[in-house]
Amino acid sequence: MALSATPIYMDYAATTPVDPRVAQEMARYLGLDGTFANPASRSHMLGWLAEQAVEGARRQVADLIHADPREIVWTSGATEADNLALIGFMRANRARGRHLITSSIEHKAILDTAASLEQEGFDVTLLAPDSNGRITPEQLRDALRPDTILVSLMAVNNEIGSRNDIDALGNIAHQHGAAFHVDAAQAAGKIPLDVGTQPIDMLSLSAHKVYGPKGIGALYVRRDTQITPLIHGGGHERGMRSGTLPTHQIVGMGTAFTLASAEQEQDNQRIARLRARLVARLEQLPGAHFTIEEGKGVANILSVGFDDVDGQTLLMEMRSLATATGSACNSADVAPSYVLGALGVPTRRALATLRLSLGRFSTEQDVDGAADVITATLARLRSTQAPA
Ligand SMILES: *Cc1c(COP(=O)(O)O)cnc(C)c1O
Repeated sequence: MALSATPIYMDYAATTPVDPRVAQEMARYLGLDGTFANPASRSHMLGWLAEQAVEGARRQVADLIHADPREIVWTSGATEADNLALIGFMRANRARGRHLITSSIEHKAILDTAASLEQEGFDVTLLAPDSNGRITPEQLRDALRPDTILVSLMAVNNEIGSRNDIDALGNIAHQHGAAFHVDAAQAAGKIPLDVGTQPIDMLSLSAHKVYGPKGIGALYVRRDTQITPLIHGGGHERGMRSGTLPTHQIVGMGTAFTLASAEQEQDNQRIARLRARLVARLEQLPGAHFTIEEGKGVANILSVGFDDVDGQTLLMEMRSLATATGSACNSADVAPSYVLGALGVPTRRALATLRLSLGRFSTEQDVDGAADVITATLARLRSTQAPA
């Protein structure tokens, strides 16, 4: 076997490669012969052209979620969009209340932001998910208080692929007079989103989970939703987020989102077939547990844990498979992921849980190769390891 064999990439939920069609478009906005000018330069033609490109991309991103382009604010990614949504909204509306509701399996961009809001004097309630990673409408109804002004829940979980019922949850928040924010970083391009009909006031997006470049994202902010800016200087993005706009990144995100609009359905169908092929292999392995029930989550993320095997060794032995695990490594310390912990997955199995995530460029060979690697590694480890 060649030592330099490229690993099989099964970590699309961490990031996706840039689609070649996106990279090609981005390259036109960089050099002297391209549209490199500052889109805020109003005094010359080159600036106008860059501004036109930015506004075209704004419409492309808005179209995927059926928003008005004026409701799209460019950010550096979904992390910044989450920060702007939570901190910006809570600060702007503090006179109406100081309570925020979110869940214990949100991305760290939400959890760490909520923790910093607590430091600032706001109150935060974290809802616990059911065994399929969902927050129920009843739970949300019970947690709402007179001073609750914002509810933030993710559409699709990045670790286990679970889906929340955004419509039911948003309706409850709205009936109560609270605003509703959705982290849709893993949902855009995977499931239909329509802010025109869905009860969503703010929605976070990232380009690099959808075959666009890293370092660019957006926050959808519904008309009449008040947020205070986090970044000051120049008043770009109608005062909500200052800073020179990265034209090439923005054009990349726009192109990627247009491709997602056109291809999401066929991508999903192909990925669902690949997933079924992978599941058929993995479910035959002794001691395999799918973290959530099949059919409850998105097709592209598969979380599977294994009994009777040491998680750290399992990972070390699978270098030819690029995937994520149910552990969070902090130097020497290995702790199980907080998401699996919140679902009640036993620690030892959580440490031996893999997040296999598929994407636009995944192939049957990838799936078969991954199943082969996992099967062989488990067999080898179980024959040499003493049972716990
Ligand atoms: C990736 C991700 C983020 C962070 O997005 P960046 O653009 O990398 O900052 C936030 N939330 C979820 C659910 C994600 O999957």
